[in-house]
Amino acid sequence: MEFYSSHITNLVEQLSRLPGIGVKSAQRLAFYILNMTEDQTIALAEAITSAKKNVHYCKECYTYTDGELCPVCSSPQRNHKQIMVVENPRDLAAYEKTGKYDGVYHVLHGAISPMAGIGPQDIKLAELMTRLQGDISEVIVATNKNLEGDTTATYISKLVKPLGIRVSRIASGVPAGGDLEYIDEVTLYRALEGRTDM
Ligand code: ZN
Repeated sequence: MEFYSSHITNLVEQLSRLPGIGVKSAQRLAFYILNMTEDQTIALAEAITSAKKNVHYCKECYTYTDGELCPVCSSPQRNHKQIMVVENPRDLAAYEKTGKYDGVYHVLHGAISPMAGIGPQDIKLAELMTRLQGDISEVIVATNKNLEGDTTATYISKLVKPLGIRVSRIASGVPAGGDLEYIDEVTLYRALEGRTDM
């Protein structure tokens, strides 16, 4: 790395902090950026800083939005009594792409993982429980079909059932260990339709 100027070294270091980007990829990206026009690099840098500055959690469902409420939560067209619980905003986007779900969401921003030291207090579970004090008829747990997702689903079920609210889990049309965001829309819709009570 000492072959490069400190500016390049710094850029490579910053880029290699991104997930899935090793040093080699970071170097490739750094040189690509150096070959961009000045306008392009300014646009890239500004997109990063302005997204960071203006995007925050929806105060209802905790997905990312630049308004107070996200488009789903602010829509009168949606069924606000039905809440689908997902692990992250990408899963929400995957279900939105099916165009078949008319309820609202709750984004946990993670899943319970004793192995990784992630407990119920580290995800947006308390926020979900607060929402359930309102008029809610069903909680659909659409966490991933893996150990963490299943642990989280069981935990949620135990909390929600005593409130007399229906709790369901998406069907196993979703392959075990599958990340929701990579699954096609038809499969996601079938998993939703075939959900079973917990
Ligand atoms: Zn929202």
